[in-house]
Amino acid sequence: MLVDYHVHALAHGEYEYSSEWIGEYLRRAQDQNITQIGFSEHDWFIPRIDTDKVREVASKPEFSGLDARVGIEVDYKPEREAEISAFLAQKPYDFAIGSVHHLGEWPFDHPDHKEGFTVRDIDEVYRDYYSLIGRVVSSNLFDIVGHLDLIKVWGFKPTAHQENFFIKPLLHEIRSSGMVVEINTGGLRKPVKEIYPSEVLLRDLFTHNIPITLGSDAHHPDDLGSGLAEACNTVWKVGYRTIMGFAWRKKILYPITRLR
Ligand SMILES: [Zn+2]
Ligand SMILES: [Zn+2]
Repeated sequence: MLVDYHVHALAHGEYEYSSEWIGEYLRRAQDQNITQIGFSEHDWFIPRIDTDKVREVASKPEFSGLDARVGIEVDYKPEREAEISAFLAQKPYDFAIGSVHHLGEWPFDHPDHKEGFTVRDIDEVYRDYYSLIGRVVSSNLFDIVGHLDLIKVWGFKPTAHQENFFIKPLLHEIRSSGMVVEINTGGLRKPVKEIYPSEVLLRDLFTHNIPITLGSDAHHPDDLGSGLAEACNTVWKVGYRTIMGFAWRKKILYPITRLR
């Protein structure tokens, strides 16, 4: 069982949901023996998310053996909670990823804004980031915590031990929330060149019995499934034997397929 639950077919708005374009993603999934693909567009494209189109294309005989799911990746900000709750209820999503991409108005993971790290105290940046992740967890709005340690994207690391000060207190909350943490391989294609979360953090997740899922964060068919073999081997090494899938916002546990 191999899943990719973090896929952007609209990318950053440059593509459209056509049968051909969705089919392209599904074919790439089949090529890599992915058995479930979960589309997860950024919430600012909600009017362009066509859940019916995905299900229609995926039901073609040529894609038998591959299940398609439609979720959403939400840009979490505390002041958006009511809005998020309202739009999540409007479409039949299979899963919702809660992600932090902004500290206040600063889009810290956007390449045009990475200079922000050079004018701020990195420890404070990390503290602020994880306090927002805490809000994602306590909001009860989402199924999956998106790219848990995205704040490392450009390679700026805190002097403090982030695991001890910022993250450990969160792990109990994640566990009791019932949320799943995604193993997101997008970081391998960024300057930090690491999976989100790091292996150290992944071990903490395992110790706390926190379930995981997998996502490539592909914004193009060429990136679909990228790094998932490495991610599978890492989670296996850490001790995980199961992975979470979703349907209609319900969790379904599957055995992990180890790739070589
Ligand atoms: Zn994201
Ligand atoms: Zn994403």
